[in-house]
Amino acid sequence: MGAEEGGVIVVLLGPPGVGKGTQAGVAADSHGWKHLSTGEMLREEAASGSELGREVQEIMDRGDLVPDALMVEMVAGRLAEIGPDEVLLLDGFPRTEAQAEALAERVGGSHPLVAVYFTAPESVLTQRLLGRGRSDDTPEAIRHRLEVYRRSTRPLVDWFRARGVLHEISADRPVEEIQRDFLHVVQDALADASRPS
Ligand code: ADP
Repeated sequence: MGAEEGGVIVVLLGPPGVGKGTQAGVAADSHGWKHLSTGEMLREEAASGSELGREVQEIMDRGDLVPDALMVEMVAGRLAEIGPDEVLLLDGFPRTEAQAEALAERVGGSHPLVAVYFTAPESVLTQRLLGRGRSDDTPEAIRHRLEVYRRSTRPLVDWFRARGVLHEISADRPVEEIQRDFLHVVQDALADASRPS
């Protein structure tokens, strides 16, 4: 790597409504880390009124996943511009094994990957999502999103665990407590990345 201090890419994993965006946002603001939320990115595309944005909006409202190829294309530029010493918090990507493979292929050589798996009971998730009231937070879309999560994204927990980089954090607690645990994981990973190997 050559750099005095290593960078790291942190993947926030967990079901819809578990608070990935909140945790990533707070940590990024307080530490000057980069934060990429693919949900936000897609909502911006949708709001732009482009043809692509209309298609994306329909997919999101159904609670389905945007196709892998499009997702990878959308994040590729952001991945390419990550400096060697930078921390990138990935919130909402990867969501499928194909996306995880694409991520590892693009950044695996330059930045270690660390995954943080946030957990909470499903009843808590549903309550939070219903309270949020986004256009894709209707009861049917929420049910479908949790199902898509279980089928397509949950397997990534084992994908990262098999690579020895998975950390689990209970997210059914006050934001500050979760944040403290999250910061520990990122800072440990940064310390590891800076150590000459
Ligand atoms: P949540 O908070 O429910 O996890 P997000 O704001 O992260 O939702 O994402 C909203 C929607 O955007 C998802 O339901 C999905 O349709 C789409 N989306 C976001 N990231 C991805 C991705 N990596 N791959 C495919 N679709 C995605």
